[in-house]
Amino acid sequence: MKEPLLQVDGLKKHFVSQKGFRKSSKQVVKAVDGVSFDINPGETFGLVGESGCGKSTTGRMIMQMLEATEGTITFDGERLDQLSGKALKKARKDFQMIFQDPYASLNPRMTVRDIIAEPLIVHEMETSNGIDRRVYELLDTVGLPRKVAERYPHEFSGGQRQRIGIARALAVKPKLIIADEPVSALDVSIQSQVLNLLKDLQDEFDLTYLFIAHDLSVVDFISDRIGVMYLGKLVEIGDRDSIIQNPQHPYTKALLSAVPVPDPRAKRERIVLEGDLPSPSNPPSGCPFHTRCPFAWDRCVNETPELQTAETTGHTAACHLLDEL
Ligand code: SF4
Repeated sequence: MKEPLLQVDGLKKHFVSQKGFRKSSKQVVKAVDGVSFDINPGETFGLVGESGCGKSTTGRMIMQMLEATEGTITFDGERLDQLSGKALKKARKDFQMIFQDPYASLNPRMTVRDIIAEPLIVHEMETSNGIDRRVYELLDTVGLPRKVAERYPHEFSGGQRQRIGIARALAVKPKLIIADEPVSALDVSIQSQVLNLLKDLQDEFDLTYLFIAHDLSVVDFISDRIGVMYLGKLVEIGDRDSIIQNPQHPYTKALLSAVPVPDPRAKRERIVLEGDLPSPSNPPSGCPFHTRCPFAWDRCVNETPELQTAETTGHTAACHLLDEL
């Protein structure tokens, strides 16, 4: 059996801020609160949940853009959270990020050529003679004409900008790509083009993806396995088919009920969640979902459910009514 390419174990990010006017009074925001998952080589792991659930913070900790409060991140057998300086720079070549807003993540004063060439220069991967050839090769790969190399980001549509961002991420031949809401800013018709491009690139370059999104239909389309996050915790995790066809957690059921069904004759009962996502600075007692769960009962208020394997499906979920709903 292959070793996972990425192992995240007990990852936490707690932000401490001052509460009110008194310096001594602090509040702790548990943005990510004990998340564990593995991603195997060549796999796409989709991390899904509402905005503010901690999925992007998880991605940023893996990218080493944010320091974890607790937990370990092992990438290709190496503890990323223990690296710094040159060792971290060397490791960074193997994991790259694609951002939600391709415009904000591309320097408006740089040409497309310079944007794509930058990581090649930082990681000393090409001679100056080889850079143009590699930039053209990457433009071909993402389906953009070579003549765009001398143009600037503002001259492109959202979908084209995202292709430039993908070319930049691919430049250093990474093993893992963390895609943080890469299609949520795009029109639906363009979304499918970019998702299909990501799938084709995965086959061509043997890439592994951590795909972060709030839209379960997008995650369903691209993922091999799915993790559902709620209020900083993973509440369900398993194979894509198992999660989509047989969700165990009421939160996953609610997310799934909002996904349109292609066949209008096939009806899916819509579960409307009451209320907003509670604040991670003051999470509910017991099950974090109990304030919005239509099935909540006394035990849910007092006891936090652990992730357990459901007998009916073989995947894991954190709910006191596992296998019963
Ligand atoms: Fe709902 Fe209770 Fe299950 Fe939490 S543990 S998801 S509140 S039924």
